[in-house]
Amino acid sequence: MAENGKEKKNTRARRTPLGEKSGRQQDQVLSGAAEAPKIGKIAGPKKKPAQGDGQRTRGKAEQKKAEPKKTPAKKAEPKKAQEKAPAAGKKKAEGSRRASGKGGRKASAPAISQTAAQVQAIKAQQEAQEKRAARKGRGSRSKKAQKPPIKVYFLGGLNEIGKNFTLYECQGDMVIVDCGLSFPDEDMPGVDSVIPDFAFVEKNRERIRGVVITHGHEDHIGAVPYLMKKLNVPVYGTALTIGLIEGKLKEHNLSSANLHVTPAGSHIQLGCMDVELIHVNHSIADAVALAIHSPAGTIVHTGDFKIDMTPAEGAMIDLCRFAELGKEGVLALLADSTNAERPGYTQTEQTVNNSLDSLFMRAEGKRIIVATFASSISRVQMIINCAVKYGRKVALSGRSMVNVMGIASELGYLHIPDGVLIDLNLINRYEPGQLVLITTGSQGEPMSALTRMAFSDHRQVAINPNDFIIISARPIPGNEKTVGAVVDELLKQDCTVIYESMYDVHVSGHACQEELKMMQALTKPKYFIPVHGEQKHLRKHAGLAMAMGIPEENIFIGHIGSVLEIQEDGIKQLADAPAGSVLVDGLGVGDVGSIVLRDRKHLAEDGIIVAVCTIEGDTGHVAAGPDIVSRGFVYVRESEALMDEARKVVYNTLEDCAKHRVRDWSALKQNVKDELSRFLYRKTQRSPMVLPIIMEV
Ligand SMILES: [Zn+2]
Ligand SMILES: [Zn+2]
Repeated sequence: MAENGKEKKNTRARRTPLGEKSGRQQDQVLSGAAEAPKIGKIAGPKKKPAQGDGQRTRGKAEQKKAEPKKTPAKKAEPKKAQEKAPAAGKKKAEGSRRASGKGGRKASAPAISQTAAQVQAIKAQQEAQEKRAARKGRGSRSKKAQKPPIKVYFLGGLNEIGKNFTLYECQGDMVIVDCGLSFPDEDMPGVDSVIPDFAFVEKNRERIRGVVITHGHEDHIGAVPYLMKKLNVPVYGTALTIGLIEGKLKEHNLSSANLHVTPAGSHIQLGCMDVELIHVNHSIADAVALAIHSPAGTIVHTGDFKIDMTPAEGAMIDLCRFAELGKEGVLALLADSTNAERPGYTQTEQTVNNSLDSLFMRAEGKRIIVATFASSISRVQMIINCAVKYGRKVALSGRSMVNVMGIASELGYLHIPDGVLIDLNLINRYEPGQLVLITTGSQGEPMSALTRMAFSDHRQVAINPNDFIIISARPIPGNEKTVGAVVDELLKQDCTVIYESMYDVHVSGHACQEELKMMQALTKPKYFIPVHGEQKHLRKHAGLAMAMGIPEENIFIGHIGSVLEIQEDGIKQLADAPAGSVLVDGLGVGDVGSIVLRDRKHLAEDGIIVAVCTIEGDTGHVAAGPDIVSRGFVYVRESEALMDEARKVVYNTLEDCAKHRVRDWSALKQNVKDELSRFLYRKTQRSPMVLPIIMEV
């Protein structure tokens, strides 16, 4: 056993090349995990390590020494070795049932080839285990009391849609799930993005075993580069997710040595937790939910998901696995609440395909411009397919669109037949009816390609009445106005504009009520925690769970900073952990705080007045000036009288100070500030920021 333990340790150190792993552990090498030698921790699909562990531990204790070791053995020492061992054993039997590769469903071939003998072997093994468990069970077992708790730290993504950041802790090991950013509100002028506060994870850096990312949307991966600057921890995700993160790390000049591709269906052993990736449908390919198998029990963390029976690309969500987990027993379910207010089912991506096809037909002879999210790779694929079908060339517009599509086609998530894609600079060589432009800006973002086209500010694309524009996205709450403005501007130019409320040119990537209920029905969690949504979404989702029969006391609605301790026999809210928002502006991370924001708002609302003046060093009398400079306050040319008076006010104030021998700098400045502010307010009812600059000669 000790040997086994050592061997595992080597694996954990990620130095062991693939070949050295024993057959027992690695009989199931995942095809997608080609980098496995580096990773080491990724094992083939397996099942229920937590429980298996319990049984195994007991079994061993029996064989070996006396009884009393039972409880401590589990908690303390050879924890890690033991945990992996049963998994390896079981894996042999079960591994090939669910197999490797994307989605696990490509497993069907090996599954069929399973012989009856193997099936028998599985049965025998299960029976033996059950017997062992039963034998033990007759003793002083109090199974529930034995299980340690698992803690969930909600460090982002609650009461907001954005910057998802959750941390799980069990027996001292910590795992981070997702590390996203959110976009700034209107009251954050000049801020580029908002990332989670990393204070808590920095404090616990020694205990963090890894970061697992569910999918490649900004609200799940956006803050990874900022986290990587603070912590040196491995990051796991599916191929596309990791590809997108890699692109981000490059922009930040960070190494991607810590990134590990782990396909859906695989398991990652992170300390005492075994994190299983389960394929789901979403508006980006290669999204996964997580089953975190811990000594405390199994937690299902859905990430963003929907149930799509006919997805644009790839397999349908692995509902089967969720059902299996439900049978095995799920301690808690944390589920996506984005669409919890919407009844019914989210439409399949296929409806968009049909709409696009008919719109392409209708747009004959016109130039088609489709705006969508850069991350909606499958949507872009549909557009490209339509373009091919109707004999059009495709040009991409917008930096993020070009970037993401580059990564996606490199990784094989996007298939563009040769000769279809053309450079945006060459579109004038083609007739309008031969073109499709795919662009960013579906949210009316001020600097995006579509917005610039609408406001005649785009270098290569000038909108004209012969344009047929499709906005294949729904405005994210809060963006309705800006999207409306862009649509208005486009319509003014007499082109055709199609947006979501007119045709099915967009479907959501998130589950609606019936799908959310189905997830609960399949996983049958003991505790339910709605996440990923604003308060109204979380409440509504909690309501759904109650309607499904989960008692109210088993449902928890948290806020950012909440810490929840989950144990078989109850949940308990602990004291909050430090959490919040850090603002990113250009290269500055966190240096824009509330004071800077207050100044910016002040400047934005009322402008600034700068009073520059030179005084004599010995007497304090005004030597030169004062000069008044203003920005964003009044139009100076029409307010010369006011500026003259303002100059006088500053002059008089300084002379007054000289007379009363006020020579303290801050007092001088404060006096000028007060007098000038008072004067300006009296004259204009405005309060610009007043900045006195006084020099001495
Ligand atoms: Zn998402
Ligand atoms: Zn999300």
